[in-house]
Amino acid sequence: MKFATKVIHAGIEPDPSTGAIMTPIFQTSTYVQAAPGDHKGFEYARTQNPTRAALEKNLAALENGVDAICFGSGLAAQDAVIKLLKSGDEILSVNDLYGGSYRQMVRVYAQWGLKSRFIDMYNAENVAREIGPDTKLIWIETPTNPMLKIVDIAAVCAIARKKGIMTVVDNTFASPYLQNPLDLGADIVLHSATKYIGGHSDVVHGCLIVKNQELADKLHFIQNACGAVPGPQDCFLILRGIKTLHLRVQRACENAEKIAHYLLKHPKVSKVYWPGFASHPNHDIAKKQMRMFGAMVSFDLVDNNMAAATKILSSTHLFSLAESLGGVESLIGHPASMTHASIPKEERLKVGLTDSLIRLSVGVEDVDDLIADLEKAL
Ligand SMILES: *Cc1c(COP(=O)(O)O)cnc(C)c1O
Repeated sequence: MKFATKVIHAGIEPDPSTGAIMTPIFQTSTYVQAAPGDHKGFEYARTQNPTRAALEKNLAALENGVDAICFGSGLAAQDAVIKLLKSGDEILSVNDLYGGSYRQMVRVYAQWGLKSRFIDMYNAENVAREIGPDTKLIWIETPTNPMLKIVDIAAVCAIARKKGIMTVVDNTFASPYLQNPLDLGADIVLHSATKYIGGHSDVVHGCLIVKNQELADKLHFIQNACGAVPGPQDCFLILRGIKTLHLRVQRACENAEKIAHYLLKHPKVSKVYWPGFASHPNHDIAKKQMRMFGAMVSFDLVDNNMAAATKILSSTHLFSLAESLGGVESLIGHPASMTHASIPKEERLKVGLTDSLIRLSVGVEDVDDLIADLEKAL
């Protein structure tokens, strides 16, 4: 099946009891047994839920995996991955990691003796140099947030595999429509389905997709043993959102391309970060591993201060000032004070995340209206 067919049909069967074409919301906590142990494969809803099971089958197909494991949020999915490790182990991550991922590693897991280091992965050879004796997991995010840097997934995963180190790719910014890390050698794909996969800014959800059944079984064990499962209504909303994933992401990418070029020519804009520019340092890798260049665009101002950024952030109308991304509506954000406030300022400045940096999540509105909105604000 091709992608546009998979989003609609993979893992989805009409409900056997009624023929309902939409997977029902099985809003139940338990299932009746005819005799002890005589049941239909469902015992208790933390362990099994048919709405969640349909979603997991569908997600596995979108990332070309064998199984998916769903959680109540993207960070709950990350938490489950980290629980595969033990104290003394080390995670090597990109130095431009999502703020919440960074916070979980350094503020929650550090006190359990887990080590984490944040390194430059934009040159794959550097990863080989940085691997230490305790490195057990390599955490890739690409494109990164908010600098939109690109990591060569195939190159980093090949280095990790030679050393027996597990790799995870946070694929939230690309979505499964643009990039499939399992095909490039990754062991685990993570999504905050809150973003493009759900796509309508109405649910918080996370998932992992793997290509090895033994690893899937371990993660299902953690899902059940630790219990951060999503509710059936949330799974239904994600399933519904996925049906238009390809259409939404394609249009959003087309809009983002036009907006990136518009910003590049604007006299008040000093820099535009978007992997589709031929001048982007890892443009060739983006071209190789992504189908389009994504719908996130960051830019910096000539007037390099917080006040100038604040003025723009509070002047747009179609771009709403809010955290998050990946919905049908366009959002504008200020990473330094919003998504990345938990990262120390000197760490932020090292990667170019200044106080005047502005991040756009481009939606699927008419692009002329979006550009007019930015024009007025600038
Ligand atoms: C939002 C996000 C997360 C966290 O997901 P939640 O669903 O908010 O818990 C992780 N990684 C990236 C890249 C994100 O954008």
